[in-house]
Formats: sequence, structure tokens, C-alpha cells
Amino acid sequence: MFDIIEQARLGELHFKSDPDSGLKSIIAIHNTKLGPALGGCRCIEYHSDTAAIMDVVRLARGMSYKAALAKVPQGGGKAVILKPAEPFDRKALYQAFGRFVNELGGRYITAIDSGTTIHDMDQVAKVTPHVSGSHSDGLDPSPNTALGVLAGMKAAALQRYGNSKLKGLTVAIQGMGNVGFHLASLLYEEGARLLVTDLQESKVKQAQTAFHAEPMSPDQFCSAHCHILSPCGLGGVINHETINVLHCDIIAGSANNQLATPDVGQQLHQRGILYAPDYVINAGGLIQVSMGLHRATQQEISNKTWGISETLYDIFTRSSVENLPPSTIADLTAEEILYQETVGA
Ligand code: NAD
Repeated sequence: MFDIIEQARLGELHFKSDPDSGLKSIIAIHNTKLGPALGGCRCIEYHSDTAAIMDVVRLARGMSYKAALAKVPQGGGKAVILKPAEPFDRKALYQAFGRFVNELGGRYITAIDSGTTIHDMDQVAKVTPHVSGSHSDGLDPSPNTALGVLAGMKAAALQRYGNSKLKGLTVAIQGMGNVGFHLASLLYEEGARLLVTDLQESKVKQAQTAFHAEPMSPDQFCSAHCHILSPCGLGGVINHETINVLHCDIIAGSANNQLATPDVGQQLHQRGILYAPDYVINAGGLIQVSMGLHRATQQEISNKTWGISETLYDIFTRSSVENLPPSTIADLTAEEILYQETVGA
């Protein structure tokens, strides 16, 4: 276990078992140099306790890197709940989780992630103030995540084509969910041509009607002939197989962990496909929640979100100069921010 902790440079790992509610939960606080750790709570089935530990540590580290590059005063943290066998008392489970969060005294702020809902956060909010995304604050990150992806696409277009205008470019979007649909709307306003897919046909139909989008089947996504490929569904989309069928210049989407393995980033770089590192381009949601917690106005939040464009452009420039993939440059930049003293020593 200490190997995992040391490798990830993790600050703290907390465990809670509450037999009354069935709660088994782990909270990882990766780094609080920039502020209290902020990150969602995932409630899924894990095939082992080690798998849950690995997941929460990896996700917490990712949040530290994301917050550092988004320039928000937050650290990186994440929680997992090992989903109990059905049936279970959902309210009791999330109140027990809320008490666990509260015991950490604000060093970790929780939010929604896979398997948790706004109603769950309402239960958490009954027992701790260290939560975002309940009905009482109404912080919905998705529209701002989409805005950040748009800003990032403009930076990528500027780097690739010498012009940040998206008008006339073809963008293929996978996933017409909370982020993908908002993104399609923004791109439609920009005058981009849209190819869209989703596992749910009704969502594709909605996009066809609203944005004159052209439908694709889910298995056509990676080989779509387009300027920008935008994964906004699940992770792992770009892997050793799909990389061979790509017909795009740029990959820029909201999905977390788009590259199945880090070496795929190197291969994209070698092929001249510009990849916007996922945790940089999808930071709009984090910016929304962090600044929302600090009572910023929506205009201030939008302005900061447009800053993703500049951050990415700097990453692309450094990537060209150092001839390293943007994914590597993003990690290096985040590590310089988080570990400045040690790096500079
Ligand atoms: P969502 O669940 O609302 O939407 C995802 C959509 O993708 C669904 O409609 C689903 O049917 C579709 N989908 C999944 N697999 C697909 C496939 N193989 N082919 C076609 N469609 C597929 O999720 P969301 O909130 O829109 O988030 C999308 C992605 O962005 C996720 O990876 C999420 O982790 C990431 N993300 C979201 C936010 C946010 O603010 N919501 C912030 C950062 C990152």
C-alpha cells in the first residue's frame, strides 16, 4: 500500500467502515498546497479493496494536476464508496459518508461523480458544509465544462491551423450527454459542422433537430473524417487499436482519461495529431465549482474558463519546442507548480 502512496506522492488516505449504514468508503487527499482538496465521490462496485484504493489515489492525483493547471485555489482529492449490495438505505449511506467528510474538517470537499447524484449530495449536505453540487448551492458544472472545451478547441485550432476560428471545421462528438450537448450548441453557434453519436438514439435525434448535426453510429466515431475529434462519453477511447483508424488533426473533448495508456500520447505526437490533454481542457467544471464555492459571479467564472485556451496554447508551444507530447508537458507543468521547491532545489 505504501508503494502506491509514495508513487503517487499522496498526502493522506482515510478509510471508513460504518456497519449500521453499510458504508465502506475511502477518501484520498493528494496535495493541499494550493487549497483544500476538491473532487467528486464515486460509488461503484469494485472487484477488490485494492482496486478501490488504486482508483481513488489515481483520481485524487488527477484532481491535483487539474486544479494546478486551472489555477484555482484547490488541492486534489477524491472519494470512493464501495457500492453495497442491494437493497441498501441510500439516505443513511450518504449521511454516513457526509459524517466521514466532516471529520476531515474541510481539508476535503466532496461533489458528484459516477454513481452519485444531486439527491445524494443533499443527504451529505445535511451533516457537513464541505460539499458542492447539492440542491442548496445548485452548482452544475457541465455547461462550464463545455465552455472550457470550446476554449481549448480554439487554442488547438490556432496551433494547428494558425487561426482560432472554428467556423467551417468539422467536429465529431462522441456523447450527447450533459457536456456533449452543451458543446454541440456552442459549436453550432460558432458555425462548425457537427457529426454526433450517442448510445441513446433519442439524444442524437435531439442534436440533429437543434443543431443540424449529422448522425454517426457509435462505432464510426474514431474513424470519422473530421478536423476535431471530441470524445465526450467515456474514457479509454484512444488506444493501440483506435489510433490506427483516426482521420483527424486534433483530439479535444471532455472525457476523462481519453488515452488508454500514456504511450498513446507519444504515438499521437509522432503522427502529428494534436491532443489537448483531457484534464486541462475539461477543467471548466472544476473552475465553476471552485469559484462558485468562493461566491464568484458567472462572468468571473466564464473569464477564468476562457483562460483554458491560453494554458493549452502554452502547453502546445512548449510541446513543439521540447518535442514532447502535450500530455507529457501538461504533467510536467503541473508537477512544477505542485512541487516547485523540490523541483527547483
Ligand atoms: P453523461 O453521462 O451526461 O454523458 C455521456 C454520454 O456519452 C451519454 O449520453 C452516453 O450515452 C454517451 N456514451 C457513452 N459511451 C458512448 C459510446 N461508446 N459511444 C457513443 N456515446 C457514448 O456525462 P457528462 O457529464 O456529459 O460527461 C462526459 C464525460 O466528460 C465523462 O467522461 C466525464 O467524466 C467527463 N467530464 C464531465 C464533466 C462535467 O462537468 N459533467 C467535467 C469533467 C469531465
